[in-house]
Amino acid sequence: MTDPDVIVIGAGAAGLAAAQRLAAAGVTVHVVEARSRVGGRAWTARSPSGLPMELGCAWLHSADENELCALALRSGLTIDKTRPPWRTQINDAGFRPADQTDFRAALARLFARLDEAGEAEGDYSADRLLDPGNRWNPLLNATSTYMNGVELDQVSVRDFFRYRDTGVNWRIVEGYSALMEALASGLSITFECPARLIDHSGPQMRVETPRGNLRGRAVIVTAPTDVLSAGDLGFHPALPDKIAAAAVLPLGLADKLYLGLDNAEEFPRDSHLYGALDTVQTGSYHVRPFGRPLIEVYFGGRFARELEAEGEAAFARFAIGQLASLLGQGMRKRLHPIAATAWGRDPYARGSYSHAMPGHADARSVLAAPVDERLFFAGEACMVHDFSTAHGAYRSGVAAADAAIAALRNK
Ligand SMILES: Cc1cc2nc3c(=O)[nH]c(=O)nc-3n(C[C@H](O)[C@H](O)[C@H](O)COP(=O)(O)OP(=O)(O)OC[C@H]3O[C@@H](n4cnc5c(N)ncnc54)[C@H](O)[C@@H]3O)c2cc1C
Repeated sequence: MTDPDVIVIGAGAAGLAAAQRLAAAGVTVHVVEARSRVGGRAWTARSPSGLPMELGCAWLHSADENELCALALRSGLTIDKTRPPWRTQINDAGFRPADQTDFRAALARLFARLDEAGEAEGDYSADRLLDPGNRWNPLLNATSTYMNGVELDQVSVRDFFRYRDTGVNWRIVEGYSALMEALASGLSITFECPARLIDHSGPQMRVETPRGNLRGRAVIVTAPTDVLSAGDLGFHPALPDKIAAAAVLPLGLADKLYLGLDNAEEFPRDSHLYGALDTVQTGSYHVRPFGRPLIEVYFGGRFARELEAEGEAAFARFAIGQLASLLGQGMRKRLHPIAATAWGRDPYARGSYSHAMPGHADARSVLAAPVDERLFFAGEACMVHDFSTAHGAYRSGVAAADAAIAALRNK
């Protein structure tokens, strides 16, 4: 590894965006990445028959103003504009149309209250906005686990309100990894190289890794908040304010399971099922994504954590049981587990996407603030309006790179 001007820690969307921006400005940059691949929480695996399966992010949220769409098209990738099926139920299975209307009304009421609460003084947890005893509260909480990675009792109303969503959601047919690889092209990256310590005590910045030390004029850190708050990446001198900010912006948990589906044509492409209506312990089933013979199952929050603790097979056991009770026992023979994630146990993520603890929405700006104009922070958790997304991570990387470029020029 040759010492560059700027060292970037992490080759996810934020780190790659930062490195590309620096390189384009003529600043020398080197990326150190703990894993053996780029993309971080953007990761597309392949089914045995070669179909792409998104194990991390899948959707280009706010797609009509998401610069990753243009980047994907410029990289020769294909954008699919099929609307997400999230709030629908195939053949109304176990979910009467009148109940679906009622549930959607409860969800709309909750969102309206979140809007009101976000604009008012004070911050508190979103579960206080539920109608006590409402029969849809478990499903509203389950929905929160898919959106936020946590139940409503851990969601800050202010943070949720600040999230910007145009409601337009598209996907990359080839998968997010293809976009990340395009973004990584031409960059100098060392893989399997977890940074352990950033020493910012001397005239030069020094990054310690098991593959040797790197020196540079500035460092951009994009490691996820739980990696920072666990102390896996240390700072000398210590940065207690940063670590405290990271600790109140923890990653919630969302895990995915992919099932192969025999005789898939029986179901419409890009359709959906809620596994149960009266409990937070349910999967959300996206059936035949892109028309492929697969089911992508989403688990979130405490329930995902419990299933992770039981081991990988627990996801499939639960999902197949739930689908069989919904669609008939014959489904058991038609479903084949292919892949499951355990983002909470992944040492370089330690979770899925960040949420602010109630009362701590402003910690995002504290985390994003540079230290001494030479230690910069990026990553989805730094974003006030686009947190928990790939495009937010990308934007944070561009912003950190621009700040680093300006600081280097000033010096
Ligand atoms: C299941 C799931 C579904 C999601 N769905 C969507 C979606 O549909 N749409 C969307 O926009 N977003 C979604 N997201 C969120 C999105 O994936 C993330 O917000 C985004 O990818 C984060 O990018 P990042 O660069 O901030 O962090 P990361 O992608 O985590 O990148 C950080 C990088 O730093 C590396 N690293 C960590 N520690 C060290 C170290 N010590 N030294 C060197 N490297 C280190 C990591 O390996 C990683 O590569 C989803 C995430 C998950 C997990």
